[in-house]
Amino acid sequence: MKKDVIVLNCGSSSVKFAIINAETGEAGLSGIAESLGNQDASLSYKIDGKKNTLALPEKAGHTEALNAIQSVIAQTGVVPIAIGHRVVHGGEKFKQAALVDETVLAAIEEYASMAPLHNMANLKGITTAQEAYPNLPHVAVFDTSFFQTMPKKAFVYALPMPLYKEHGIRRYGFHGTSHKFILDSTAAQLNKSVEDTSIISAHLGNGCSVSAIEKGQAVDTSLGFTPLEGLVMGTRCGDLDPSLPGTLQQKLGKTAEEINDLLNKQSGLLGISELSNDCRTLEEAALNGHEGALLAIEIFCYRLAKYISGYMIAVPTLDAIVFTGGIGENSSLIRETTMGYFKHFGVAIDEQRNLDARFGNAGEISAPSSSTKVLVVPTNEEWVIAAQAAQFA
Ligand code: ADP
Repeated sequence: MKKDVIVLNCGSSSVKFAIINAETGEAGLSGIAESLGNQDASLSYKIDGKKNTLALPEKAGHTEALNAIQSVIAQTGVVPIAIGHRVVHGGEKFKQAALVDETVLAAIEEYASMAPLHNMANLKGITTAQEAYPNLPHVAVFDTSFFQTMPKKAFVYALPMPLYKEHGIRRYGFHGTSHKFILDSTAAQLNKSVEDTSIISAHLGNGCSVSAIEKGQAVDTSLGFTPLEGLVMGTRCGDLDPSLPGTLQQKLGKTAEEINDLLNKQSGLLGISELSNDCRTLEEAALNGHEGALLAIEIFCYRLAKYISGYMIAVPTLDAIVFTGGIGENSSLIRETTMGYFKHFGVAIDEQRNLDARFGNAGEISAPSSSTKVLVVPTNEEWVIAAQAAQFA
């Protein structure tokens, strides 16, 4: 029997969807409904490699988008066995995926105070999909669950303890499904059991995070209470002096919300380069000597290298440093520059292997003499969500 699972990722103005075979990870259908709530709302999808686009009614919202997605799914003739929903925040309650019921819905709503845009959109996706598919198991798969194994020394901030105990202010970590996939995939490549595999994984996309995983368990990660802490990202600033938001509010005469917007949407690669948040554009500009692009790439790699080296103390049995995400899977420049900081640790990148591991090719990029293996492993978050949802079918 084919184990086809519908995977839904409902964001504030978009819905990403796919039908994934939970056993092989193959996507029979994948697509996105975008610009929801705007004049130009649209739906584009790929069935067996063929692209299609549909206009949605003007200002179509999540309900209209999910109705249209349901008809596209019906056209495929696939009989899904479950629906896996990506949910950003599962607080401390969800250490693994959960079958959606009233209690789970209430908890997702409760955690919306910590990820307002994301969790409310995820919730809307679940309740709308429940109406469309009342007889299928709906499973919530949380971005935060994988990091629930972190010890207190990694997740407690140096703030007054009641802020953690009474308000849940702590590091949660995000991109958990991706780091979990990278762990499982690396273990398979190294011919080891997951429980015996230790890696530092760098997920570098528009959002970026590094995780320290010791013997199959997450022990630290760079994203924090929200997905703003840690590395330089496309438009997010990552680590800052914590006094800065207040200072910026005063200096620029802006509200806390406006500063939050500045740190999340106008900073990172875009802010430094004054050109783009897109790594490809920056690499091209850097080749032409664009100073902002050169500086943005330099800071991105330096900060990433600092995190990876920091996590070496958290992963004493390190098997491999692994790159993934759009940048990690494709940018030989970012990988080479970052790993260049580790020459005096005996880490050596093989130039040709690094150039070969792009555009869908993956594998080991370290030289045989390297003290630590460095790998490129393409991520597949949808597969993790599908596999976890299938367990409830
Ligand atoms: P998201 O976090 O939205 O899933 P992706 O994982 O798709 O994002 O990563 C997007 C990033 O990957 C962008 O910065 C893009 O420029 C970068 N990227 C994609 N292909 C390349 C490439 N060939 N070289 C450098 N960067 C690339």
